[in-house]
Amino acid sequence: MQNPMQRRKFLTSAGAGLAAGVAAMPSLSQAQAAVLPSIKWRLTSSFPKSLDTIYGAAEVIAKRVKAATGGKFDIQVFAAGEIVPGLSAMDAVKDGTVECCHTAPYYYFGKDPTFAFACAIPFGMNARQQNAWMYHGGGMALMRDFLKDYNIINFPAGNTGAQMGGWFRKEIKTVADLKGLKFRVGGFAGRVLSKLGVVPQQIAGGDIYPALEKGTIDAAEWVGPYDDEKLGFFKVAKYYYYPGWWEGGPELDLFVNIKQWDSLPAEYKAILEAACHEANIDMLAKYDALNPAALKRLVGNGVQLRPFNKDVLNACFAAANEVYAEESAKNAKFKKVYDSWKAFRDDQILWFRVAEQNFDGFMATAGSASKPAAKPAAPAKK
Ligand code: CA
Repeated sequence: MQNPMQRRKFLTSAGAGLAAGVAAMPSLSQAQAAVLPSIKWRLTSSFPKSLDTIYGAAEVIAKRVKAATGGKFDIQVFAAGEIVPGLSAMDAVKDGTVECCHTAPYYYFGKDPTFAFACAIPFGMNARQQNAWMYHGGGMALMRDFLKDYNIINFPAGNTGAQMGGWFRKEIKTVADLKGLKFRVGGFAGRVLSKLGVVPQQIAGGDIYPALEKGTIDAAEWVGPYDDEKLGFFKVAKYYYYPGWWEGGPELDLFVNIKQWDSLPAEYKAILEAACHEANIDMLAKYDALNPAALKRLVGNGVQLRPFNKDVLNACFAAANEVYAEESAKNAKFKKVYDSWKAFRDDQILWFRVAEQNFDGFMATAGSASKPAAKPAAPAKK
């Protein structure tokens, strides 16, 4: 259902461009007849403006679309809370309150966990593998088929890369330490962790810090060093765990209302799609470029880095597989995507562990990449 005001606004602005063209030049040449309409869209982001990385992707899209259409296709970007709260972005697109949103699809896993495949599920794929599945592994077709029921067509439009495991006030040394922990954790991971006694909390990015500061929650994860430093979590929790096994390569999406998408000229469709590709690459590159310095600053501020140990990871992996089996047994939509997704992921692991993993592993331990250059040898004494 569409908000009538919005619909009117859309029709008026779309019509205005054409009308102006017609008024100025009554006898239209063929080229002039092909003049494209002026269209204004509203994009609601699930993220706060302060995060230039993840919120910034929506601005990358809007800026590119505007530039490539000579300003005619104008997408106005609104931060979480300006039109609707961050976690209501999808509903706003489904209902036609806005034309599109930029969001983390797993925010809607409570409606149906199948949403999460367009973002990340625990022990899923890294950023490269996620792109491979979406663009060339059948993922896009499966997700678009699923999202039709929500009047949505999706475009991958960002990725954070593998995330950190989050900020804890107390160390997690055993699986038992997870019991009763009130943990802000994104998407599907909450359901996996609740099998191990965690009390998961779903809280939008801008609202996490006050909850952690007040002690409403015991621990929180967001993304990684650059964002997490900005959100200030190190001031209230000093143990910084890794990896965020629930988000090995989470994708962010542009969700577009299907009717609005269908109403676009083919040229605008092509431009918007290309802009989403650009945002997808740009966000990951930005995180990768900014995270190292942020990690150094955090450690310099006394943050204690801790890996989740093998026991904890194994217990979480087993819990995740239980959840997938349970969900597959009762949710045909989930099973359809999961079966394809899992076969693809397993093949990706087979390939990545040959070249990528050995290369990355060697580089991580070679020393030359992270240590300062060795001092020149002292001249030999005569
Ligand atoms: Ca996260």
